[in-house]
Amino acid sequence: MCGIFGFVSKEKINATPVIIDGLKRLEYRGYDSAGLALMTGRGIFCRKKAGRIFELEKVVGNNIESNIGIGQSRWATHGKPSDKNAHPHFSCDKKIYLVHNGIIENFKELRVKLEKRGHVFRSDTDTEVAAHLIEDFSKSYSFEEAVRLALKSIVGTYAFVIVNADNPTTMIVARNSSPLLVGLSDTHKFVASDASAILPHTRKVVYLHDGEFAILTPSDFRIATLDRKAVSRDQELIEWSQDEVKKNKFPHFMLKEIYEEPDAVENAIRGRLIVKDGLAKLGGLELVEDKIKRLNRVIISACGTAYLAGLTGEYMLEEYGEIPVEVEYASELRYKKQKFDARTALLSISQSGETADTLGALKEAKRKGALNLGLVNVVGSSIAREVDAGVYNHAGPEIGVASTKAFVSQLAVLSLLALFIGRQRDMSLVIGRRIASELSVLPDKMKRVLKEAPNIKKIARKYHKYDHFLYLGRKYNYPVALEGALKLKEVSYIHAEGYGAGEMKHGPIAMIDKNFPSMVIIPSDSMREKVLSNIQEIKARDGKVVAIATEGNKEISKIADDVIYIPKTLEMLTPMLSVMPLHLFAYYVGVMRGYDVDHPRNLAKAVSVE
Ligand code: GLU
Repeated sequence: MCGIFGFVSKEKINATPVIIDGLKRLEYRGYDSAGLALMTGRGIFCRKKAGRIFELEKVVGNNIESNIGIGQSRWATHGKPSDKNAHPHFSCDKKIYLVHNGIIENFKELRVKLEKRGHVFRSDTDTEVAAHLIEDFSKSYSFEEAVRLALKSIVGTYAFVIVNADNPTTMIVARNSSPLLVGLSDTHKFVASDASAILPHTRKVVYLHDGEFAILTPSDFRIATLDRKAVSRDQELIEWSQDEVKKNKFPHFMLKEIYEEPDAVENAIRGRLIVKDGLAKLGGLELVEDKIKRLNRVIISACGTAYLAGLTGEYMLEEYGEIPVEVEYASELRYKKQKFDARTALLSISQSGETADTLGALKEAKRKGALNLGLVNVVGSSIAREVDAGVYNHAGPEIGVASTKAFVSQLAVLSLLALFIGRQRDMSLVIGRRIASELSVLPDKMKRVLKEAPNIKKIARKYHKYDHFLYLGRKYNYPVALEGALKLKEVSYIHAEGYGAGEMKHGPIAMIDKNFPSMVIIPSDSMREKVLSNIQEIKARDGKVVAIATEGNKEISKIADDVIYIPKTLEMLTPMLSVMPLHLFAYYVGVMRGYDVDHPRNLAKAVSVE
């Protein structure tokens, strides 16, 4: 995971603020330690510090002139977060410095070999072997060739940014399964794990592909494969604006992004609905429309919150797309014996498009001949490039580590997909129109849920000291219950369990007492009476209940301790409304318990390691 940032400039610049700013923009990717290395007139200046980026900022000063710099904000995989394990890592002669995102799988054997050759290691990381390996090859080869040979000896995933005091105007970058892009302006070149870090400088970018490395100097930029073939690649223009990656008036990205949920759905459906014909128009799927018509199975593959969007999608696609669906954790799917063929679609869902497990499962399915579809937010990301066809969320950058607006936008696209596939099959015009017209007014209904924020905050105040929560919902709202529990765990570290409400009596009810409140999603839909009985069962055991109910359901306020109302919509679309109070509740509880909800401990966004 981790955030990588670097620059090469024609003139020397005051470098530390540039690197620190770049790292701060990427901090959501990893934040247990950070470091930087700058090429100066007097060799390389390097500082590394455990903790958040402001700890590094305190020790680097603000007046180091340099024209090449690299930095990293780490999410440890090998070796504890500490000063010595923070990146950059360097060679014995302190000439080669590098930052890394990923895992070097054969680091142990490489380390043993290098130690035998006299190299002395200073950290517990897998990364450090790369610096020594390049140093070793540098004895006989040029910097570029030494890097290339080192990369060929490394097994694993990486984005590397490497500098060498003996070549003070050259930076070499490389990627294999970890994201990395190059930003180009007239005077500077930048490298970063994602576009948000380079937006203040330029919107022109070039994406590196797996198995490629690039050489950047103040006057030159070229890409080659590890087999020395030159690669020519067009520049692309980033559509996201700088404002979108700022907090603006909000205290946290998480709150800003919850408030952007209506826009996220609006952007996901814009131009994709033909209400009068009851159709969804998904340009990204046009080329494979016939193949989709012939499908007899869909496997959804995802992790974390995207997996829960997938579970909701299963109900949507089975009920309206009339196709059998299985939902799998990508981390399990990739190691499972699965039968894929041309009539099976693998739908990979990932906000970042870089989730290593999802990418791994996708590559496996590709090998076996499945139709590969993607639902991805980040344009040009690895998953977006690997699939046969796909749909972008257009949710804009999501910075908060706990996913919120990406979730609702994934649900919006999944409902579009259900409509798209359903209308290819037996879904009637009437049902198609009903879904399309209800979907088109959903963003306004979502804005109404935001008006409940003061009430939700009050409820959060009342419950924020409880240490256990149960989340319940049925059918479309069963995955929403799981998402509510996951969000509370992520940002407030409270023990929360999500269950299908009908499942409660088969086990979890044993936990219920006055200290174990339940959040129950009970919209006025086909499941209402059943969920009502579940609430009665909780109340009979002195459990407290916060209900998420449909406006107009007066009866619920007599039974539940607290109620949050959401507008009425089609059952299939309810999750986009019912999840909003749960996101807000988790946010307020996390803040009330004093946590940094944008940087939950141990987590990172874009899990680009397996
Ligand atoms: N495996 C490296 C480490 O533990 C890099 C992890 C990362 O991507 O931040 O330092």
